[in-house]
Amino acid sequence: MSKGYIRGTVLLIYLDQENCPPDIRGGRRPRWWRSSVFKRPWTIDGQEITVSCNIGVALYPDDGRDGQALLQNAETAMLRARELGNNSCRFFTQSMAVSAFDRIVLENSLSRALERRELLVCYQPQVKIATSRITGVEALLRWQHPERGLVPPQDFIPLADETGLIIPIGEWVLQAACAQVKAWQEKGFPSLNLSVNLSATQFQQQELPEVVERVLRDTRLAPPCLTLEITENLAMQDINFTVQVLTAMKKLGVKISIDDFGTGYCSLKYLQRLPLDELKIDYSFIRDITTDPNTAAVVEMIIMLGKKMNLIVVAEGVETEAQLAFLKERACDLLQGYYFSKPVPSAEIEKLPLMMP
Ligand code: C2E
Ligand code: MG
Ligand code: MG
Repeated sequence: MSKGYIRGTVLLIYLDQENCPPDIRGGRRPRWWRSSVFKRPWTIDGQEITVSCNIGVALYPDDGRDGQALLQNAETAMLRARELGNNSCRFFTQSMAVSAFDRIVLENSLSRALERRELLVCYQPQVKIATSRITGVEALLRWQHPERGLVPPQDFIPLADETGLIIPIGEWVLQAACAQVKAWQEKGFPSLNLSVNLSATQFQQQELPEVVERVLRDTRLAPPCLTLEITENLAMQDINFTVQVLTAMKKLGVKISIDDFGTGYCSLKYLQRLPLDELKIDYSFIRDITTDPNTAAVVEMIIMLGKKMNLIVVAEGVETEAQLAFLKERACDLLQGYYFSKPVPSAEIEKLPLMMP
């Protein structure tokens, strides 16, 4: 076996015929993967660390007859595994090669999307259970591609994140959404809040606190009206770094939310170290609360945990009356979902009846 470092966090492992386990040779996920070291936390110097890893495999000779082709196809499979997340392992297939080409086309047009004004921020309302009024909106990015039509964020945000394009795009979203919410506040909704999502690359960007500070100053939005959302997995990746970045953000006066809560590797020990304001329960839990008693128990526990930690608890993906009743009974603070409204362009938000002050 030989190992080679490619770049950043990408590691190459080359296995020759002799050293390659039979399951990999047969195109199957290796058995050891199921009990993989990546699934349990490690304790190093008293700190608990969870490492995650996604693997892409290309096999000689079917997936490439020379090193370059093998490497390229292994990387394509790895990118696919990374999209799936949660320590995935994918073997290269020809259909991935087609979409790899597609990715290049997409990347080229994404790099021009901003200047061509193809990007649009939609807003989804957040409703306060206690008053049944809209108290905030989440900014959700849309890409209106001239040939492909509306490209969903899952299809371009991971790409924007990998290529770094998310930095200018994310700043544009922040600027546009803060300006819009400030305009709504001046129109008669003085305490309207705004939530904006941050991707991994944005979060790791050194200048992030300065960017946020500048946008708040330019748009004159009061810092406590802005909530920045990071996913649970991102928050847990490097706890010391997360604490450092979040502390810098909190100094600006903005709020911090953990998005997709419940789907990642959250350690409660870490959670209490983070300067948080909000927990956002993932859509996949809300979907099942009225049909699966175990899910209902988990959601009930998350709401209780959030309240004990003095955090605002938000449920995302509320679609039905029954889900609403469940969350109301458990006094979840804020609700977001198709039951109230899909993410809509700014002009439509103003028409929503719950918007009335
Ligand atoms: P998220 O931040 O967890 O956003 C919630 C997603 O749930 C949104 O998907 C929203 O449209 C969807 N949703 C809301 N209510 C319901 C419901 O009742 N039922 C169902 N089935 N879905 C519901 P969307 O807009 O496709 O965004 C997907 C993800 O893309 C977001 O997940 C967020 O992680 C990312 N994203 C979107 N906009 C931005 C952005 O401006 N910057 C960054 N970095 N990420 C963004
Ligand atoms: Mg979000
Ligand atoms: Mg979410």
